Amino acid sequence: MTTPAPQTLLKGQLWIGGKETPALSGETFASYAPEDGRKLGDAARAGSADVARAVSAAERGFAVWSALPPAERERMLLRAADLLEAESDALIDLLIDESGSTITKARFECRYGASLLRTAAGEARRLYGDTFPNDRPHRLSLVLREPLGVVVAISPFNAPLALLAKMVVFPLAAGNAVISKPSEETPLIALAFARILHAAGLPDGALNMLTGYGSEVGSALVTHPAVRGIAFTGSTATGQKIGQLAMQHMARLQLELGGKNPLLVLGDVDVEAAVNATLLGAFYHGGQICMSSSRLIVERAVADDYLSALKAAAEGLHLGDLRDERTAYGPLIHHGALDKVRRHVQAALDAGAQCLTGGAVHRGLTYQPTLLVEPPRENAIWREETFGPVACAVIVNDLEEAIAAANESDYGLSAGVLTNDMKRGLQAARRIRCGGVHLGLHSFQSDALAPVGGFGLSGMGRSGGHYSTEHFTELKWISIELGE
Ligand code: NAD
Repeated sequence: MTTPAPQTLLKGQLWIGGKETPALSGETFASYAPEDGRKLGDAARAGSADVARAVSAAERGFAVWSALPPAERERMLLRAADLLEAESDALIDLLIDESGSTITKARFECRYGASLLRTAAGEARRLYGDTFPNDRPHRLSLVLREPLGVVVAISPFNAPLALLAKMVVFPLAAGNAVISKPSEETPLIALAFARILHAAGLPDGALNMLTGYGSEVGSALVTHPAVRGIAFTGSTATGQKIGQLAMQHMARLQLELGGKNPLLVLGDVDVEAAVNATLLGAFYHGGQICMSSSRLIVERAVADDYLSALKAAAEGLHLGDLRDERTAYGPLIHHGALDKVRRHVQAALDAGAQCLTGGAVHRGLTYQPTLLVEPPRENAIWREETFGPVACAVIVNDLEEAIAAANESDYGLSAGVLTNDMKRGLQAARRIRCGGVHLGLHSFQSDALAPVGGFGLSGMGRSGGHYSTEHFTELKWISIELGE
């Protein structure tokens, strides 16, 4: 490990109405590096009084932003993408420090953030309306799209730049004003993103950012009657709470929630390729990815070869300096996350699962790559999100059993099917109940244009491309009588 350079503490303020400002209470909270516990800085701790200020600023910002021609909104979002790329070295440093990302994952977040901005910029011009034929001879019907107004975007810690960008840029592209509430674990990276959007020329109040705690500022935002839409990415438990609160004012909801994602390994696979895909799917960012391949469903024909090669490969993963490109993943976000991983693994072992490798802390908050085999199917490790570097495998006899095991979940976010036989792959894809099924790939896939979202407890609505911009618009039917 290299010794981190001494650094100045960062000071993060709220963004309200185009200006950086402290919380009205004057309170702040600290941000720490998960890798070594180093304090990185302090951010303003917003409360309900700040929510009122932010909503008023957003209402004023909405009047200006929504009236701009789409080409102007497009130009500013494209400029923000360029600025993000120009500042990516500093952003990568902050991502590594504040979220415990490896350098590879931090670079990916910057690339993906810029891609989301450019995709959203294009969507600003494509808010198509409609017409439909009318039986009355002189009647014309138009269907127009209008932005909702003030949209709240609440984002999680695990991809603090990319997912924040995703929650923010599509509602903005559709002409809404946005109030962003980033994770309390990663306020400094969020504020750096807000600075970039302001530097790109967004009008005052089009984007506001309130850093603080979910239970304080998050719920005050969600229950504000002027908030017309909510874009939320986070856990299912929080999404359920937000959903109930949002219905008081009928705010439009987009909920991107948890997953317990199956990766089917069919009998025809090339073992080495399947192992490489699994390493990424299961252990990328230490499994702290909503689409992690946490349930491996392996056809018996290949099970022995695949599992022994996967064990060897997992044991060979490099868990070193986060700035070393060989490092596979870093620490979990905090002690609570580590405790959950420990609890899930212990409960699975107590219930009779076999541990092929791992099952202990590597160092600090970094947990070993862990592979469990044949956990009881009612166990938490098979049913609930562990959100750590733990994959559990079950062995099945055929495709029918594999599909049944994949669907043994209240979640339905993403699935992978490793096979070279696309006919069997497609049969599986059509029957697996998930928002995305990826053939010849692991379950963690991203594309700025794709409709990402889940079945069941994985959420509602889809984010990405025109699916997002359209979600954050109202449809209005206008009819015109052209006769006497
Ligand atoms: P979390 O639910 O604890 O927090 C997410 C956000 O919600 C944070 O900003 C938090 O402050 C806020 N929040 C918490 N309580 C709130 C309340 N009562 N009202 C309003 N806001 C509140 O989630 P997390 O631990 O930050 O992130 C991990 C979770 O996110 C995992 O479950 C993961 O699967 C999920 N996730 C889903 C996707 C997806 O695309 N489906 C992507 C990434 C992460």
